[in-house]
Amino acid sequence: MSVGTFLTEALRTLRMDSATIDYPNESRELPDRFRGKIAFEATPCTGCGMCERHCAADAIVVDGDADEVTWAYDTARCMFCGQCVESCPTNALESTDEYDLADSDSDTLRESHTFPR
Ligand code: SF4
Ligand code: SF4
Repeated sequence: MSVGTFLTEALRTLRMDSATIDYPNESRELPDRFRGKIAFEATPCTGCGMCERHCAADAIVVDGDADEVTWAYDTARCMFCGQCVESCPTNALESTDEYDLADSDSDTLRESHTFPR
């Protein structure tokens, strides 16, 4: 690359907007189909276990007996693929826009819901 070409390219690059943002003070606009943390709603959940069976990351555990169901989710294991949302026959799961999930306490990344079957 000649010096002239180099300088032209350098000046062009200097005039460009920054490719990065001042995170966490600023946040990016997310695409429409962004898949973040999974949100669970107990009312429509039947405890069928389809979400657990189809989760390749073992991030969901569905347990229970004839009377009650426990649905548990570990955000630290989740890879946000959205398969559980697709697999749930009752629309009890939804991908949210939440992505700012880092935490030094792994317990805060786990949630568990127990409810009547
Ligand atoms: S989004 Fe994917 S990895 Fe996360 S809980 Fe659902 S199926 Fe598992
Ligand atoms: S969240 Fe959906 S797929 Fe998972 S146990 Fe409940 S009803 Fe079944």
